[in-house]
Amino acid sequence: DEPVSDSHFATLQHAREWGFKIPPYIQQCHTIEEIMQFASHWEQQRHQLPFDIDGIVIKVDSFARQKILGFTAKSPRWAIAYKFKTERVTTRLLSIDYQVGRTGAITPVANLEPVQLGGTIVKRASLHNAEQMELLDIRLGDYVFVEKGGEIIPKVVGVDLTKRSDEVKPLVFITHCPECGTRLVKPEGEARHFCPNDEGCPPQIKGKLEHFVSRKAMDIAGAEATIDLLYNAGLVKTPADFYYLKKNQLTGLVRFGEKSADNLLTSIEQSKNNDLHRVIYAIGIRYVGETTARHLAGYFGSMDNLMKASREELLQVEEVGEKIADSIIEYFKNPAHREMIARMKEAGVNMQKLSSPSLQSEKLKGMTIVISGTFEKFSRDELKKLIEAHGGKNGSAVSSATSFLLAGKNIGPAKLEKAKKLGIKIISEDEFIHMIE
Ligand SMILES: [Zn+2]
Repeated sequence: DEPVSDSHFATLQHAREWGFKIPPYIQQCHTIEEIMQFASHWEQQRHQLPFDIDGIVIKVDSFARQKILGFTAKSPRWAIAYKFKTERVTTRLLSIDYQVGRTGAITPVANLEPVQLGGTIVKRASLHNAEQMELLDIRLGDYVFVEKGGEIIPKVVGVDLTKRSDEVKPLVFITHCPECGTRLVKPEGEARHFCPNDEGCPPQIKGKLEHFVSRKAMDIAGAEATIDLLYNAGLVKTPADFYYLKKNQLTGLVRFGEKSADNLLTSIEQSKNNDLHRVIYAIGIRYVGETTARHLAGYFGSMDNLMKASREELLQVEEVGEKIADSIIEYFKNPAHREMIARMKEAGVNMQKLSSPSLQSEKLKGMTIVISGTFEKFSRDELKKLIEAHGGKNGSAVSSATSFLLAGKNIGPAKLEKAKKLGIKIISEDEFIHMIE
């Protein structure tokens, strides 16, 4: 528990000796001059690095002094970023592609005459949105300034008007979605155009599915990589379709083995036990993020109540303002959304708030535990809550992803057999209580 040294630098050197991967680009400096030398060295040499950087971090080396300096609300007082000057080049704008995102937002992307920038060849750059393009008066054939800022994607920041030829004509932003042909809309107060066809526009559908299975949403492991495949085969069009997938449909697909099919179906099955706030977040109501979803789940306690909620009721919920309330009302007005939720419910997806007490420890972090049988000291529901309260996850079926089987009396023989076959540890109620003590 004792630190090896009071020096941050020396500690990192120790860590390297112990076999941790510590990058070699660190230097202990004793004067401001040394720091400035280090900064200007890497400003010039940064393209020799095997990764992109936009600056360096300067830190106070002594842990004791770090402790005295402490933190502001946002950041430590003993570390500061030194940003390098942004690099800018000029190149020709050849054409513009329009990309459709998960929310239907249209992003114009510039295709450029390839140019060297920040150690890489840049061929494409973001143009942000129609307003920005208009503001910069960008035209095809123009010479444009391209910058690589802190972000990975370079952006067009201006036009070199001295090089504009007489032939270039003002650009007209597209009026229809390049993916589905629907007329685009530009909501008031939004800088971007949107394709409003959220039920039928392929990238929007796929984006919704990706969001649904993502880790903070329903956390269906391995599903994200298969969405293109499942969507293109017509097997999954709405999130509810995941819960009706059959094994033979999956194994019938190219590149889908027996094992990956089993794994996918197991994680889909397990996701049925997710708490309500995950489902609310996963269905993708515009403006409803993870935190808002938790507040909504806490307030309404069930999907049914949320669906019935009036605007006034919604406004009672923490962090829910008029924009979010209207968005929720709008979402549940749509019969397609109501049907999707009904189908999920029918398939056994939990739509109630699991009254889990707040996290008591992280002793079961990363573990998936399956409960079977009857118990003496706790009911099964109480045990499930305990598992969550200690950072664990409840699994519904024994699989290779199960950490252990918590077995009571009269345990189902099939579950026991499966656990033995997969070599999954079986523990008793007492052993479990011991684990979380
Ligand atoms: Zn579209």
